[in-house]
Amino acid sequence: MDFAFTPRQQELAARARAFADEVLLPLEQITDEHGEVPVELREGIRQKVRDWGFAGINHSKENGGLGLSMLEQTAIEEQLGRVTNGLWSCVWRPPVSLKFGTEAQRERWLRPSCAGHRRGAFAITEEGAGSDPRQVQTRAVKKGDQWLLTGVKWFVTSYNASDFVIVHAHVDGDPDKPTLFIVDKPSFTEAPPTVTHLRSPKFMHNFAFDHAELEFRDTPVPEDALLGSIGRGFELTKDWFVEARLQIASHAVGAACRAAEVANDYAAGRQQFGRPIRDFQAIEFMLADMAVEIFAAKSMLYRVAWEIDQGLDRKLVHAHASALKLHCSEMAGRVIDKALQILGGRGYMRENPVERLYRDIRVDRIWEGTSEIQRVVIAGQIRKRGFGTFADIGGAP
Ligand SMILES: Cc1cc2nc3c(=O)[nH]c(=O)nc-3n(C[C@H](O)[C@H](O)[C@H](O)COP(=O)(O)OP(=O)(O)OC[C@H]3O[C@@H](n4cnc5c(N)ncnc54)[C@H](O)[C@@H]3O)c2cc1C
Repeated sequence: MDFAFTPRQQELAARARAFADEVLLPLEQITDEHGEVPVELREGIRQKVRDWGFAGINHSKENGGLGLSMLEQTAIEEQLGRVTNGLWSCVWRPPVSLKFGTEAQRERWLRPSCAGHRRGAFAITEEGAGSDPRQVQTRAVKKGDQWLLTGVKWFVTSYNASDFVIVHAHVDGDPDKPTLFIVDKPSFTEAPPTVTHLRSPKFMHNFAFDHAELEFRDTPVPEDALLGSIGRGFELTKDWFVEARLQIASHAVGAACRAAEVANDYAAGRQQFGRPIRDFQAIEFMLADMAVEIFAAKSMLYRVAWEIDQGLDRKLVHAHASALKLHCSEMAGRVIDKALQILGGRGYMRENPVERLYRDIRVDRIWEGTSEIQRVVIAGQIRKRGFGTFADIGGAP
């Protein structure tokens, strides 16, 4: 077994770290105070993403991306996860489902998205449909040579940085026909408008972009903007779930590392009762527990990324990605909570990155499948395939 990063993986991780430190870190305070990345800074940041060589990190070269392996992507994402306020999302990741589009669709939406000239948001969640997407009420009805979409979507992340939205709707309102439609934003503003931006509520974190609520009212979508085929909506998003769960796990590990480093430095310098607080076993044991948690999570992260690159069976990949997302998101919650405790009152100040990480990381136990849903997936796999799914010797393909 070889656990070492190749020189190329090391270079990518080092470059991503430098990008995070030099480009994203200076934006943290301003994003927190402003509530999102100020609009006037966005084009400059996009250009820096291109200049630093991070345009299209999650797609093949054929589709305009960088053609990186999952382990290479993970090496980058982990470093981006160190920054607060969801600034990792300044590096775009075009929706994975677009790779299943026709050549014309990939040319129109995917390749320009990889280059950062377009951006797509993804809308599946609704007021009554969260963990259970079969409850989706948004319907698509065929009229002449186009589809008409009607429904309300919630939590559409990065809507205000996007120029198209991939909408998950049920054809004829039939939950057995989940289907994806690409809706271009310009059509939102045509008269009369058929898509309304209802609002972008405030959340616990101050994120780089918004999370919008959108209402579709007989929104016309041409036939050639249906992605895949009728009824394949879930099939096309399955790969995306795996990728998104790995991204969350990578960001969680990066966030936990940064918080632990800040706490470790502080514990060495902060004097109380005449000595550094690190000399109190209560503090040093917290640091020890944090290190062990990160060590375990990081090992798991690289392993699952490596398994994907080795072509592990898709169902096993799905199970392992769930386990990884669950473990890393909960690990980061525990580690950052301890980091904040070590920092005392300073850790509770908004100007401290650990305070922001504490708020940022909470959503990782909710989006892309809550912790409970990950446990449902994991338990289902154990029931179907046995404990070996997670505990076989060697475990890999
Ligand atoms: C900041 C943010 C950004 C988001 N971005 C997007 C986006 O871009 N696009 C998008 O489509 N969605 C997005 N979401 C939605 C997100 O994916 C959902 O919030 C998530 O799937 C959970 O759905 P819910 O919030 O409706 O909770 P619910 O499904 O109502 O769950 C409520 C509680 O019940 C539990 N629960 C539900 N079912 C079960 C079960 N079977 N067993 C045990 N417990 C269960 C849950 O774990 C949770 O604790 C975003 C959410 C947030 C907070």
